[in-house]
Amino acid sequence: MIDTHAHVNFSTFKDDADAVIQSALDKKIAIINVGSQISTSRRAVELAAKYPRVFAAIGLHPIQLQDEEVIEEGITFTTRKEEFNYSTYKELAKQKHVIAIGETGLDYYHIQERPEFKEIVEDQKKVFHQHIDLANEMKLPMIIHTRSGKNNSDAACIDILSELRKNKPKYGGVMHCYAGPPELIKDFVALDMYISFNGILTFDKTGLIEKILFSTPEDRILTETDCPYLTPAPYRGKRNEPAYVDFVVSKIAELKNREFAEIDLLTTRNAERLFHIALQ
Ligand SMILES: [Zn+2]
Repeated sequence: MIDTHAHVNFSTFKDDADAVIQSALDKKIAIINVGSQISTSRRAVELAAKYPRVFAAIGLHPIQLQDEEVIEEGITFTTRKEEFNYSTYKELAKQKHVIAIGETGLDYYHIQERPEFKEIVEDQKKVFHQHIDLANEMKLPMIIHTRSGKNNSDAACIDILSELRKNKPKYGGVMHCYAGPPELIKDFVALDMYISFNGILTFDKTGLIEKILFSTPEDRILTETDCPYLTPAPYRGKRNEPAYVDFVVSKIAELKNREFAEIDLLTTRNAERLFHIALQ
C-alpha cells in the first residue's frame, strides 16, 4: 500500500513524526509527504532521507500565495504570503527521493468572497505554470490540488483542465482529492493524469466520489490520506495519518466487490508507474 499524499511534514506531527511514519511502515505502507511551501517541502525531503519507502514532493500550495487565516477541520493556521522561487525549488528537486512537483493548483475556496478574487486566481495560474515548467525540466510528475468555491463547485476543476491543455505536464501527474465533475475524468486521463482517493470515499453521502471512482480507469486509481485532514471512517474526529490508508483501500475493494489484496496490488503498481518508484 502507499499513501501518495501525506503531510507528516506539517507541524501537527512535530512531536511524533517518527512514530507516525514507523507505524505506517510496520503495516508495509509507503508514504509520499507533500510540501505546501518551502519549509514543509524541505521537511518532506528531510524525512525522505531518513527512511526507505518514504518519498517527498515539493511545491507551493495555492493558498500560500496570500496571507490568510485558514480553519480546516478544527485546525487553525495562518498562511503567510510566499513567492515561488524557481531556482530554490529546482535545487531542492535535485535532492534524493524527490519524486514529484506539488502540491500546486487552484484553490478558490478561501478566496471566493474577496474583492481581488480575479487577481488572486491569475496569480495562482501563473505559479501553477511555473510548477509545470519545473516538473518538465526535472522530468517529474505533478501533484495537483483543486478546490472550488461553495457557490460553483466545479470552477477550479474546469479551469485547471484548460490550463493543463495550454501547458501539458510531460511526465503526467495526479489530481489529488478530486471532487469535480465525473465527466471530466476522461479528459484528465487523456492528459496522463491519475486520480487519487482518500477518506472522503468512506464518509461521502452525496455519492459523488463513488461516481468519480467508477469513472476512473483502474490503471489510474491511486490512494492517499491527505493527513492530518480527512480522517476515514471509523476514525472520524481523530487526527489522520498514513497508517489509515488501508481504510481507503478496503473501501475501494468493497465498492468494486473485489479482494483487498487485489486493490492493494493495483493501487501500489499504479503509484510505482507514475512516480517511478519500486515498492515490492
Ligand atoms: Zn495536501
